[in-house]
Amino acid sequence: PNSFTRQHSGCGRVLWEEGTVVPPEHNFSAFNRGRSKSTLRTSEWQYPRSQLIYMRELGEGQFGKVLLMKAQRGIAGFKRDLPVAVKTLTSRDPQKVAKFMEEAELMKKFSHPNIVSLLGVSTDDVLDDDNAPLMILEYMPYGDLHAFLENNRPGSETLSVSLGDAHFVSFATDVAEALKFIGEERFVHRDIAARNCLVGAGLRIKMADFGLAQRLNQNNYYLDGEGGVLPIRTMAPEIFLTGQFTISSDVWSYGVLLWEMVSYGALPLPGMTSRDIAEAAQTRTLHHTTPPDCPPVLGSLMAQCTNHYPNLRPLFTDILTQLTQHDP
Ligand code: ADP
Repeated sequence: PNSFTRQHSGCGRVLWEEGTVVPPEHNFSAFNRGRSKSTLRTSEWQYPRSQLIYMRELGEGQFGKVLLMKAQRGIAGFKRDLPVAVKTLTSRDPQKVAKFMEEAELMKKFSHPNIVSLLGVSTDDVLDDDNAPLMILEYMPYGDLHAFLENNRPGSETLSVSLGDAHFVSFATDVAEALKFIGEERFVHRDIAARNCLVGAGLRIKMADFGLAQRLNQNNYYLDGEGGVLPIRTMAPEIFLTGQFTISSDVWSYGVLLWEMVSYGALPLPGMTSRDIAEAAQTRTLHHTTPPDCPPVLGSLMAQCTNHYPNLRPLFTDILTQLTQHDP
């Protein structure tokens, strides 16, 4: 009951209290596993937009705003009103609409406790009324991990949780679980970074933002042919040379994510320009220094994951073993 405290606003509309969480007994990812694998256009995934009540803005994504809304009619097997995060698409450019739908299709496929669950979409009435396509996601009350780390930096005025080694190890484990699953599904995420992880109830981390995720080909790599914007501070150095994304390149980015965590959301490779980074990557001299006060298990994993030789980097199963077996 403590998870669903309500608060009434002055105008009589029911608002969800900041920090409201989805009851732990409601496991969306388990529910989604039983749902149809066919296209999102099936009525099973469509949710009527008239049943979504605006509450506030959560953030701004590459497609458009992300809003906190209340889903009034049962959604994804949940019987009562539920706070949800709604990704909106501002553009009507057919290419962007296709990318948006592609991301929703992927999220539907990735049913895992450490991946943000897709609860539904509102897309079947887009053409008729010039409505924006909507992607309805599980709401993560503590927002993205990058902002969460910055806000909880020691000495910060916004500090609400005093983060210690056990938190960092738990965050690292949650992300590794998600990435192990994605790899088993034969996908690369390609954009692993703190800003793409979300923090939920009990400070559990879930991966989000599959805008760059791609299926691996038979040779286990995805070649970037689009020349799109790439996240160079977290990207593995071989990508500068080959353009190939592999599970091992996701492992490098995971190592940089560990660096971001322990550095409370600082910018990786401080003092280096994009050009410096590209040059260092090509001469195999790119190096992430271990942050001060780094828990030893994370320092060791950071070094292993950011090995210049992709074949020498650990697999996510090895990473999980090291995280569970380390000395506290
Ligand atoms: P995009 O990757 O499309 O650019 P994001 O998915 O990163 O957009 O969303 C932008 C911001 O919105 C995030 O940084 C986060 O603060 C917020 N946000 C996104 N999804 C959720 C969610 N499910 N729950 C809570 N906040 C969210």
